[in-house]
Amino acid sequence: MDKRIYNFNAGPAALPLPVLEEIKDELLNFNHSGMSILEVSHRSKWFDDVINEAVYRTKRLLDINDDFHVIFIQGGASMQFCMTPMNLVPDKQIVDFINTGVWSTKAIKEANIQGKNVHVIASSEDEGFSYIPDNFQVDNDAAYLHFTSNNTIKGTQWHRFPEAGGVPLVSDMSSDIMRKPFDVPPFGLIYAGAQKNIGPAGVAMVIIRKDMLERVPENLPTMLKYTTFTEKNSMANTPPCFAVYTINLVLKWLDEKIGGLQEMNRINREKAEILYDLIDSSDFYRGTARRDSRSMMNVTFRLPSEELETMFVKEAMDAGFGGLKGHRSVGGCRASIYNATDLDAVKALAEFMGDFEKNRG
Ligand SMILES: *Cc1c(COP(=O)(O)O)cnc(C)c1O
Repeated sequence: MDKRIYNFNAGPAALPLPVLEEIKDELLNFNHSGMSILEVSHRSKWFDDVINEAVYRTKRLLDINDDFHVIFIQGGASMQFCMTPMNLVPDKQIVDFINTGVWSTKAIKEANIQGKNVHVIASSEDEGFSYIPDNFQVDNDAAYLHFTSNNTIKGTQWHRFPEAGGVPLVSDMSSDIMRKPFDVPPFGLIYAGAQKNIGPAGVAMVIIRKDMLERVPENLPTMLKYTTFTEKNSMANTPPCFAVYTINLVLKWLDEKIGGLQEMNRINREKAEILYDLIDSSDFYRGTARRDSRSMMNVTFRLPSEELETMFVKEAMDAGFGGLKGHRSVGGCRASIYNATDLDAVKALAEFMGDFEKNRG
C-alpha cells in the first residue's frame, strides 16, 4: 500500500490526519526544546504543559468542573476492570453491573475475583448481547452501577445512559468517549482505553469525581490507588508521555478543527446513518444489533455466507479499506467509525459495499 488506507480498525484505530502531521512536524524538536517529545523529561515544563493541557481540554470538551480529576493510568481499560472495584467498593457493600457483552463480562469477573458482593441486575446475554437492556432495578445501597457505554465487539451502544437515582455511575467508555456531549455529574468514574477514540494505545483516561476518593482503602498497593494518580497529577512515576501528548493533540483537533462534541456528534450520526441505511435497504447485508441499540461507533453486519464475508474483507483491503473483519469471537464484519474516521471514508465504504453487493449478490 503506497498511500494511506481508509482505516476502519476497531482499536488501535485511525487517528486524525492533522494530528499525525503535527506529530511528524514537531517530532525532532518539540516546542523549541531541542528534543523530541519522546526524549524530554516528564519533570520538565515542556511535559507539564502537555499533561495540563490534556486535562484542561478534557474538562472543556466534556464541560466538567473541578469536582472531577482527569488522570492517566497505564494498563489499558483492562486494568480499570480491577482498579474500580478495588478502590470504590467497600467490603460487603453491593456493587451493581449491567452485562452487555465481552467487556462487561470481564469487568464483572474482576470484581468477583476480589470477592465483592456483585449483583448483575440486567444482561442481554439471552439474545447474544445484541441489545441494550432497558428493564432493571438499581440497588439503592449499591456502591455504584457499572455499565459499558459502547460494546465494541457486538456493535451496541447506550443511547440514553441508565438512571440510578443517587447511586454513582461507573462506565467503561473506551470505544465512545468524546463521541458526543453528555451530562457528567452522575458519574463517579469514567474510564477509557485511549486507542479507540482519543489516542494511541498505552494509557487509559480516567475521570473520577472527587468524593469517590474518600473510599480508596489505605492498604492498596501504591500504583493501584486512584489517589496516587490524583495527588501527583498522574506523575507519581513516569507516565506514558507520548500517549498523553498524542491524546492532547487529538483533543485539540476535536476542539479547534471539529468545533467540539456537539459538532462531532452531528458528524458521527451522519456517518452511522449512511452505513445503517445501506444495510437496511439491502437483503445482502444484515445488521447484527437490534435497531434501537445500534452503535454509532462499531457497525456490525453479516453477509449471506462466511465465504462471502471472507471475500468481502479481502476485496475491501485490496481496494484500500482496512479493518473490516469482525472480532474473532463473533465473526462477520465490522466497520469501526470512530471520531477520526471521516465522512469521506464512510461514503467511500458505502460505495464499495454497494458495488460488492451488485457484483456478488
Ligand atoms: C478495547 C476495549 C477494552 C480493552 O481495552 P485495553 O486497553 O486493551 O485493556 C475494554 N473495554 C472496551 C469497551 C473496549 O472497547
